[in-house]
Amino acid sequence: MTATILDGKAFAARVRDSVAAHVARLTEEKGITPGLAVVLVGKDPASQVYVTSKGKMTLEVGMASFEHRLAEDSSEQELLGLIDRLNADPAVHGILVQLPLPEHLDPDLVINAIDPAKDVDGFHVSNVGLLGTGQKGMVPCTPLGCLMMLRDHHGSLTGKEAVVIGRSNIVGKPMAQLLLGESCTVTTAHSRTRDLSEVVRRADILVAAVGRPEMVPGDWIKPGATVIDVGINRVAAPEKGEGRTRLVGDCHYESCAAVAGAITPVPGGVGPMTIACLLANTLTACCRANALPEPEGMIP
Ligand code: NDP
Repeated sequence: MTATILDGKAFAARVRDSVAAHVARLTEEKGITPGLAVVLVGKDPASQVYVTSKGKMTLEVGMASFEHRLAEDSSEQELLGLIDRLNADPAVHGILVQLPLPEHLDPDLVINAIDPAKDVDGFHVSNVGLLGTGQKGMVPCTPLGCLMMLRDHHGSLTGKEAVVIGRSNIVGKPMAQLLLGESCTVTTAHSRTRDLSEVVRRADILVAAVGRPEMVPGDWIKPGATVIDVGINRVAAPEKGEGRTRLVGDCHYESCAAVAGAITPVPGGVGPMTIACLLANTLTACCRANALPEPEGMIP
């Protein structure tokens, strides 16, 4: 069997086009431009790249982008002061604080200071609670992107056996909640799970969010299953030259693709969907803030 490749890059481009069309209509008909504020504290190189690319894509879909880069040694008071101002600013509909924060800042305290209605990352404890109780809130972008791809490929997910490897607050837990919301039978596996290979073999849908390069081999995969590989791992690639690297997922792509019915590649799978969903969440937050109908198909 050769798996269908779930092309996240192309899907994300379609989501961004749809967001851009909504934004153009909002601006033209209502004079409202959705705005996303991104806050970066410190100089983490990966975070700098993410923040720059988020700002660029925000502008590309016609939204306003507000970037706040704070020094590494910024105090908690300074950061909370900025969040207060962004919470009160009517031009800002979405606020994202780039994680990880420097060690002296408490991420829970900072995230929970964001107005939940503007929490487009969906990490505020209110949004976590709303998702857990099946109510409308803001859904974290990476699992939302995974769900969009699954719905697009399968239509209904009802009754499917879903296994999520990973229980982080950012990916694993919200992913499991979303799949439960779709009436899947959900198992969440983690580092203490016994017989992981046997657990994974039950899965009609596997979501791997671990952070261990190529940990899942093809012989763990149920024939025909759908594999969503969230992992982004940089490994040495001596075949490309000395000191060169490449990105791989948590699943061993070739062997899994030989057994699965569908699979997301790394890169070009889940990754591009994350930023597209961030933009979709910002649009949704803007519509809600202005008591306008929400764009369809963006939020479960
Ligand atoms: P975390 O490190 O927060 O969580 C990893 C999870 O994997 C933990 O729950 C851990 O279990 C579990 N785990 C670790 N080792 C094993 C093992 N041997 N067997 C089974 N489970 C194991 O990572 P994140 O959730 O933040 O990210 C996961 C991956 O997804 C990373 O590669 C990250 O780069 C990527 N990612 C990709 C995004 C995208 O846009 N595509 C966005 C966010 C993340 P335990 O809880 O027991 O420690």
